[in-house]
Amino acid sequence: MSGSEAEAAAELERLAAEIARHNALYYQQDAPEISDAEYDALVARARDLEARFPALRREDRPWHRVGAPPAAGFAKVRHGVPMLSLDNVFGAAQFAEFARGIRRFLGLPPGQALRFTAEPKIDGLSVNLLYEHGRFVRGATRGDGLVGEDITANLRTLKDLPLRLEADAPERMEIRGEVYMTRADFLAFRAAQERAAEEREARRARGEKLGEAVQVPANPRNAAAGSLRQKDPAVTAARPLRLFAYGLGEASALPADSQSGLLDWLARAGFPVNPLFRVVESEAEAEAFQAEMESRRASLDYEIDGVVFKLDRFDWQQRLGFVGRAPRWAVAWKFPAEQATTRLLDIEIQVGRTGALTPRAVMEPVVVGGVTVRHATLHNEEEIARKDIRIGDTVILQRAGDVIPQITGIVPEKRPPGAKPFAFPHTCPACGSHAVREKEDVVRRCTGGLTCPAQRVERLKHFVSRRAMDIEGLGEETIGLLHAEGLLASPADIFRLPARREALLALEGWGEKKVQNLIAAIESRRRMPLERFIFALGIRRIGEQTAKLLARHYGTFETWRERMIAARVPGSEAREELGAIQGIGPAIAEELVEFFAEPRNLAALDDLAREAPPLPAEAPAADSPIAGKTIVFTGTLSAMTRQEAEARAEALGAKVTKSVSRKTDVVVVGADAGSKAARAAELGVRVLSEAEWLAIARG
Ligand SMILES: [Zn+2]
Repeated sequence: MSGSEAEAAAELERLAAEIARHNALYYQQDAPEISDAEYDALVARARDLEARFPALRREDRPWHRVGAPPAAGFAKVRHGVPMLSLDNVFGAAQFAEFARGIRRFLGLPPGQALRFTAEPKIDGLSVNLLYEHGRFVRGATRGDGLVGEDITANLRTLKDLPLRLEADAPERMEIRGEVYMTRADFLAFRAAQERAAEEREARRARGEKLGEAVQVPANPRNAAAGSLRQKDPAVTAARPLRLFAYGLGEASALPADSQSGLLDWLARAGFPVNPLFRVVESEAEAEAFQAEMESRRASLDYEIDGVVFKLDRFDWQQRLGFVGRAPRWAVAWKFPAEQATTRLLDIEIQVGRTGALTPRAVMEPVVVGGVTVRHATLHNEEEIARKDIRIGDTVILQRAGDVIPQITGIVPEKRPPGAKPFAFPHTCPACGSHAVREKEDVVRRCTGGLTCPAQRVERLKHFVSRRAMDIEGLGEETIGLLHAEGLLASPADIFRLPARREALLALEGWGEKKVQNLIAAIESRRRMPLERFIFALGIRRIGEQTAKLLARHYGTFETWRERMIAARVPGSEAREELGAIQGIGPAIAEELVEFFAEPRNLAALDDLAREAPPLPAEAPAADSPIAGKTIVFTGTLSAMTRQEAEARAEALGAKVTKSVSRKTDVVVVGADAGSKAARAAELGVRVLSEAEWLAIARG
């Protein structure tokens, strides 16, 4: 093997793994990471290498996949007749070659007219629908073309799908169709998913339970595919899915003798059939229809990516048969990719309701696929770095089946001299607070939660919520109104509202009684327990449970505040103390430190504490000899687990920490205790045996 062949082998190996991964993302998880054009480029590169080094041809060849095997979780269904893919043609010359091939194969004279059906190619998910005695009995995805996934229960929820056929039907037949989502439905659905994802992020920020992950689909096809492959048919039922039927698989008898006859029959049987389909009698008519569809493409209310031409006569289709995986009697005449290049003028950073910083491309306006585009999302800072996108670059913009345009790459030759890599800001453009990115996160977030205008309303809503400060009469709408009226910008402002009676009374529809009630509700919450106060701040990852641990450990607001500020120094005693609290992991400690490291937060916090000073944490069970003491367990206990012992100690009012320091009051020493026991002796800390501990624990 020569050096270059070895290099090619290595690259092919890498491409095979990469393409297989994208196949799985696309077909099984409905969550592609790259655009169709980027995928096609990978496949083209692999095929090119194979052509140059035939010895390297692989058995698996993932670039020859027309789909992927069914994912785990769905039963497998073998199609009666394989669901194969169509060859593509681009342009009139290739289509003429396709027609010539048909005439040659059938032995027809060169001038013989051919009749084709022409159907817009819907960009959705192909399904195979089995009917027996006119009843829908089973439905499946295409899968790898031979075996698909049984999604019968989900398909039953589609209003477009007839459960019983209205026309006379063969005993057993497979109907082929495409499930899709209209553009308008997709945009509404996507917006709802985005809101759900934000809501989930807000729950994460409050340290609440998250529930199922929310997928925000990139295009209508992904949305349709994801909706059809739900575990719960009720979820599918709630999605706006549509169906067009267009073909036949296995059939015990033919309901028609041509494709156009079949489409008529499908319509009579109760299936939606695309109303734009037409019969064309020549290559010239085919080309005219193709051009008409391309010009209408942007205004259709669903996505199409070309036109499917099928030789109309079934007997001729039969004779032509298949070559490899594609029929000789049909092709997909694809539209050219909707691509354009334009100049990137700027990268704006937008701040979401939960503090996420999202980059957005601002471009010289350009028309792509009939739509003028000025903005495109750049997703996150990693994506900008990966594609090395710089301000001033000429970027390639694509709308390939995507309603939302994407920047797929740049034109390196057109880069202006001196263009610098984009420096993603480390401060929030909305409030100036520092913005941080956690290790496992691709998103950078603003830490100025209490003051950031982008997050303000979200934070205020959390602050007054039932499990936080629980202020009645301050609902989402009222907060929005008071914020818009300039009466409410920070949590402290809530407690200044009682002093602004006149301004409140001046609001439209606000009477004496309403203002009175609101003021009373606010006053009743001016002194809240420390744990509620901490939870109400809405610090990311600080849920109710964590707030309780912090309140119990530090006791008073003043102590907590002082220790948190001290904990900003890595390796400091305060930082060790924070990390040693049972139930506080490094991620939570990090969030607290970040929060206190932002001076704007500290100012807002002190402002709030002046208006609404929290009550000290209640000291639990003060009659226990270890109440209020700091306790460390070391070694193995025989009568209870370490976890149980620590929980018991906390219930008795002790603070449990992991390491022995000057602040430790008691060390409980079990069997095989190591350095901690020695350290306790060295510091003169009181040491208890397991028996002594049990006497206390069992009261
Ligand atoms: Zn901010």
